Amino acid sequence: MKFEELNISSALLQGIQEMGYEEATPIQAQTIPALLTGRDVIGQAQTGTGKTAAFAIPVLEKMIPSAYYPQALILCPTRELAIQVAGEIRQLSAYTHSIRLLPVYGGQDIGQQIRALKEGVQIIVGTPGRIMDHMRRRTIRVDRVHTVILDEADEMLNMGFREDIETILKDTPQERQTALFSATMPQPILEITRQYQRDALLIKVVKKELTVRNIEQYYFDVRPNHKTELLSRLLDMYVPHLSMVFCNTKRTVDELTTLLQNQGYPAEGLHGDLKQQQRDRVMEAFRKGKVKILVATDVAARGIDVEDVDIVFNYDLPQDDEYYVHRIGRTGRAGKSGLAFTFISGREIYRLRELQRYCQTKIIHRPIPSLEDVNQTRMNHLFQEVGNIIANDDLTSYVEVLQGQMQESSYSALDMAAALLKLHPVSRDLERDDPLPESPRDPSGAEPGMVRLFLNIGKNQGVGPGNIVGAIAGESGLPGKLIGSIDMHDKYTFVDVPKDHAREVMYSMRNVKIRGKSVRMERASQKSSADRKWKVRNR
Ligand code: ADP
Ligand code: MG
Repeated sequence: MKFEELNISSALLQGIQEMGYEEATPIQAQTIPALLTGRDVIGQAQTGTGKTAAFAIPVLEKMIPSAYYPQALILCPTRELAIQVAGEIRQLSAYTHSIRLLPVYGGQDIGQQIRALKEGVQIIVGTPGRIMDHMRRRTIRVDRVHTVILDEADEMLNMGFREDIETILKDTPQERQTALFSATMPQPILEITRQYQRDALLIKVVKKELTVRNIEQYYFDVRPNHKTELLSRLLDMYVPHLSMVFCNTKRTVDELTTLLQNQGYPAEGLHGDLKQQQRDRVMEAFRKGKVKILVATDVAARGIDVEDVDIVFNYDLPQDDEYYVHRIGRTGRAGKSGLAFTFISGREIYRLRELQRYCQTKIIHRPIPSLEDVNQTRMNHLFQEVGNIIANDDLTSYVEVLQGQMQESSYSALDMAAALLKLHPVSRDLERDDPLPESPRDPSGAEPGMVRLFLNIGKNQGVGPGNIVGAIAGESGLPGKLIGSIDMHDKYTFVDVPKDHAREVMYSMRNVKIRGKSVRMERASQKSSADRKWKVRNR
């Protein structure tokens, strides 16, 4: 849908145009008209779907330019988000009458904020704690606020802002318009909605539309203690301009960041325990490309919007399926293609399967690159650079130094080049041979955590994979979704089941008949499955 169809003033349309937005995102197309009619709205859509403009545009349309008191309050969970939202509002309003807008958050000098507030502010974007603080000091008066926006409401509740939010809402006029935006809708949010919104319209952009199409997704099966080495190999191979590495805990963020820094990577960590100032510094450096690798927890990275992230690494498999979508949504923005690499170990393959079902995407297995692969790519990069320098730079003074050395020492040019190459950091692993094994696999070829079972019926009996799943699930009670790959041949079939359930599956299938044929089920070993193939073919 075009913004022109949304009944927005031409000055604002110009601002939107200037930002390069061609058409409204689904959440914008649905929430903007509803908000413009004055209705309360609940907007549910995932990170990166344009929720900021979805409320910023109606807020700007509703401003009374001549009134210099707080008219709109926008509550955000973090300082970064408040700054980001305020920035977007400023840009959008570039062509409207000038808007008095102030971001207000903890960690910033309160005296300075008070002075700015005294000048008459119309839109306040801030964190609930600091806004409450100002309300208590009476430096922010909310009695004429006509619009309240709760941005990233789920995150605000996660961060313990519930009471503050309620206090703020109670103090604002009852006839205000309230809009709530959130990626998820847990129970506490619904309670806030019920208590503080009137006849709110729920606008939900379904997950399906959100699955990210231009992101190539791969997984690596790696032992936990080899994850760091794998990460550095991938960083060396792909040399991403900007990348994000997601970990599940603050501790992993700290440890991994230190390890990467010690190896000379321009990495910084971001998590909730860092002081506001440190977080600002890290984000600023990342945006500018001084820090190229941002190691973060989900909460710390939530809502942060940096374009041009080339690769997202899931160093840990996310605990929540939705997090996966949030995480990888940081790459492949604005029509560019992105890469997402997920590290899993052993039994995590089950979670990965569920994740693929949930996201309706395919995450493809990639073998761990050998040091040789890494070195090959790094050498290619290096020699490409060497070629560029020879083609474009003036090397006279370097040539003179080398000639001098060669005459003095009688080394050949090739000897010198080889020694210089050895000194170059690219060569650090050239002499090391250090293959990284994948997590141990079943000798039969089953995926980690799975066992491959042999079943003595196949396509010739007129059965399909569905019948096999049905029979196993029916007899053993194992949920069908836990059954892994099914490899059907004419007279026999291989079925992968979780290791922990293999015994009971085999046991429960002892006296079962499928299509009138008594079945026999047993563990397939690499050898026996190969033998059988042979035997069956030759029978
Ligand atoms: P959310 O709050 O849903 O996570 P944001 O509001 O931060 O998403 O928007 C994500 C990115 O999409 C930002 O870079 C924003 O500038 C951009 N964006 C927002 N609306 C549009 C649009 N209509 N067309 C193109 N890009 C947009
Ligand atoms: Mg947002």
